[in-house]
Amino acid sequence: MGKVTGFLEIDRQVAKYQPASDRIRHFREFTIPMTDGEVQKQAARCMDCGIPYCHGPTGCPVHNQIPDWNDLVYNNNWDEAIRNLHSTNNFPEFTGRICPAPCEEACTLNLEDVPVAIKTVEQAIADKAYETGYVVPQPAAVQTGKKVAVIGSGPAGMAAAQQLGRAGHEVHVYERESRPGGLLRYGIPDFKMEKHFIDRRVTQMQGEGVTFFCGVNVGVDKPVKELIEEYDAVLYCGGSETPRPAGIPGADLEGVHNAMDYLVQQNRRIGRENIDSVAWPSAPILAGGKHVVVVGGGDTASDCVGTAFRQGAVKVTQLDIRPEPPVKEDKLTVWPYWATKMRVSSSQAEGADREFQVATLEFIGEEGRLTHVRCCEVDERRKPIEGTEFFIKADLAFIAIGFSGPLEDGLVKELSGELKISSDRRGNRAVDANEQDYRTSIDKMFAAGDVRRGQSLVVWAIREGRQAARAVDEFLMGASVLPR
Ligand SMILES: Cc1cc2nc3c(=O)[nH]c(=O)nc-3n(C[C@H](O)[C@H](O)[C@H](O)COP(=O)(O)OP(=O)(O)OC[C@H]3O[C@@H](n4cnc5c(N)ncnc54)[C@H](O)[C@@H]3O)c2cc1C
Ligand code: SF4
Repeated sequence: MGKVTGFLEIDRQVAKYQPASDRIRHFREFTIPMTDGEVQKQAARCMDCGIPYCHGPTGCPVHNQIPDWNDLVYNNNWDEAIRNLHSTNNFPEFTGRICPAPCEEACTLNLEDVPVAIKTVEQAIADKAYETGYVVPQPAAVQTGKKVAVIGSGPAGMAAAQQLGRAGHEVHVYERESRPGGLLRYGIPDFKMEKHFIDRRVTQMQGEGVTFFCGVNVGVDKPVKELIEEYDAVLYCGGSETPRPAGIPGADLEGVHNAMDYLVQQNRRIGRENIDSVAWPSAPILAGGKHVVVVGGGDTASDCVGTAFRQGAVKVTQLDIRPEPPVKEDKLTVWPYWATKMRVSSSQAEGADREFQVATLEFIGEEGRLTHVRCCEVDERRKPIEGTEFFIKADLAFIAIGFSGPLEDGLVKELSGELKISSDRRGNRAVDANEQDYRTSIDKMFAAGDVRRGQSLVVWAIREGRQAARAVDEFLMGASVLPR
């Protein structure tokens, strides 16, 4: 344990943000890094609990050994801290930036609303490791002669590929887009995580012998059956990309878009990639000088809000059909679980108008172009309340109500009837593979990440990639020393 009385003496402090008026002028990250000394003081607050709830199972999905590295940071042993952190998490610089931090929710000090600043400490360890040149390729000492194809280079595919490469297998990653990273690159905006962090991990992985084939849509450009024949194992990490159908009349009006059309376009613009060649409903989609309405209450919706402000939107309104959550949760009933409470993302804090318990009834337009959104209030069962209809002026509307499963064309179409995909009551589809061996209904084929568990979080994708890598290694070699 760091400082025995640390939690009594030191106040919680997290990295501060640039003021909203400054940060909406650019797309870069806007957190102001803390000094080493400040981070060490935060690590000193950890109580090294007898049962560290931060560490799991309700806390960290990759089971980061949080009390251990808090102690190492407090004692100025940053090299050992990153070694420990890398033993459970391939990409702590990603999670340190964009994880919602269920660990902090589960921290014992959260009973008093002052959890240890775990996410801030994690990011500081990861960033320092790069600064000090600690992060270098770690190629396997011995090659196994086995070949593995990974389809998809999101966090699940990247984590799996790194683990499998280090286990000595020849790993080839096939990615449909022109650059690796999945939603880390094309969904999540730069202001939450700049993309050079992905590039330097890719460079490290290439140094470990992993090969990336970008611009290859498996099932379209290359038959998946060819991969299954050519490789000793195939791991499918294709994500959950089908937008949930909103069924709102008027969605075909000019100015109404699925959130991902908007976010992917902006990410490509910043990455200096071609946006003309992609089949956008109408390119470019820009919010400058416009009234914007975002339908949905999750991460994707929030990212549309922040992007619209940075493009110069006049007004951004976010519509959420759920009731407004309480400002403070009842700790004794929910802790250490993730609590439903009022959360304000950095994007929402930039000035969004948030409406709760509101249904989007129709997009209304003139001469084929969106002008208004017709809404009404709903009761707790989401039934419209009579006489509550209202209109919001809108030039642009983004539908961000989630994703329902893997894309149905391409790979899934090629394997239809063979690759078992299940649906739940809400119509969400996911590839059938259990969390023990990650094997699909097809011999030699495994699945992990959002494609298997449904839309989730980066940290869960990393966990699944790591566990699936171990399952593949066991399948190929009969045993594995890779951690689960
Ligand atoms: C806008 C947005 C914001 C988010 N923000 C956060 C956040 O702040 N924090 C957080 O923890 N999570 C966030 N998430 C969720 C998180 O990004 C995902 O849970 C995570 O990326 C899933 O990882 P994955 O590797 O399973 O899939 P993905 O990241 O979706 O990667 C799948 C990859 O597979 C490729 N692919 C698919 N099919 C094929 C094929 N046939 N051939 C070749 N390549 C293929 C795709 O091009 C893609 O690159 C967000 C999601 C969205 C949409
Ligand atoms: S729950 Fe909080 S105080 Fe306890 S070990 Fe984890 S980080 Fe430290």
